[in-house]
Amino acid sequence: MAETWYAGGRVADGSGRDPSAVDVCVTDGIITKIGQAPSGATTVDLDGRLLTPGLMDAHVHLGLSSPIRAQFGFELSAAEIAADIFTSAGFALDAGFTTVRDTGGIDGGVVGVLAKGKVRGPHVLSCGPVQCQVGGHGYYGAEWEPTAMWTEHHIPGLCALSLMSGNADELRKNVRETFRRGATFLKLCVTGGVVGGHDRLADTQFTVDEIAVAVEEAAARGTYVTVHAHGKEGIRNAIRAGVRCIEHGTDIDEQTAASMREHDVAVVPTFAVIEQLLDDGVADVDPTTVERVTGVRERMAAALEIARSNGLRIGLGSDLIGPNQQRRGEELRLRSELESPMHALVSATSVNANILGVGDTVGTVHVGMRADLTVWQEDPLEDPGVFANPDMAVLVVKSGATAKDIR
Ligand SMILES: [Zn+2]
Repeated sequence: MAETWYAGGRVADGSGRDPSAVDVCVTDGIITKIGQAPSGATTVDLDGRLLTPGLMDAHVHLGLSSPIRAQFGFELSAAEIAADIFTSAGFALDAGFTTVRDTGGIDGGVVGVLAKGKVRGPHVLSCGPVQCQVGGHGYYGAEWEPTAMWTEHHIPGLCALSLMSGNADELRKNVRETFRRGATFLKLCVTGGVVGGHDRLADTQFTVDEIAVAVEEAAARGTYVTVHAHGKEGIRNAIRAGVRCIEHGTDIDEQTAASMREHDVAVVPTFAVIEQLLDDGVADVDPTTVERVTGVRERMAAALEIARSNGLRIGLGSDLIGPNQQRRGEELRLRSELESPMHALVSATSVNANILGVGDTVGTVHVGMRADLTVWQEDPLEDPGVFANPDMAVLVVKSGATAKDIR
């Protein structure tokens, strides 16, 4: 068993503890010792740099890596859409992210190809297509297209953004089909959204009884449901139905947060996508989107503070869409400004691992964990802009193998 020591650096282990000057030993892809490298050991010299757990992004859309309207307007070939998806997967690794949770849009085929190592990319957990109600968020066909035509936009084995359900029975069938295609958790849209023009953010989508159908099917497979939710009515419906996690959580207030705490429901705020939309980084979305996103940043920041003061588990997700997914760490920079760099790091590592249900294998630099590690050229805890700059993630290790090394 070949041992490699990552030596001479400082380690921020993902638990929130202050960094310490220790060396980390990796054997067969697993962290096996933490301490001082013995003389004569095989070492990778970190030269005083900071080592953290590989970052995790709990809200990504690899399947939305092409210009959005071109993708859903049948302008792009399957080959081009695939190229864009795998480019985004490589970008994630290059930015220091070794695990992502895809919250809608890729088929199990993409997860499989990445897991086999045929293309560069992080570990991926996927919900497959998002579960949406007919007429709700998650539908990007042209106005004239009947909902029944929506599945024509799917490319089997590659991408399927969402499945539309008209009632509880259709939802049950769709979630079973989604699991068959390789999903390991479910995502439902239970309020309106920013991108798309058929609803308002405060609208509720799916009834409590309908959401509960998905929760029941997920529980039957030993997994969980997370929901896209901005307005608090939809969030409360989801809590009542038994979901485990809220994406976005824009209008979480004290009462909602208390209920989330009581039921141990986590939240994944998503700030980077808002900046991306406001900065017109996604030029190819519906023109009304910028109007819809205005005010969301401030409300989401207020919700974050309420979630923190109520002791909720707060994950971290970028929700980046379109071709510009290079700067996934922008989410940590934005969170660092709202809280602290250490809060951002902990959310992106140990808390995300916990929310994703993989906290016993990744998310901290501890003995027994998988060797997913990122080494930073400068200290992101001093300057959180470092998190957002892929050139600063100089060494990325995935399952003990070097995925990037530009030291
Ligand atoms: Zn999303």
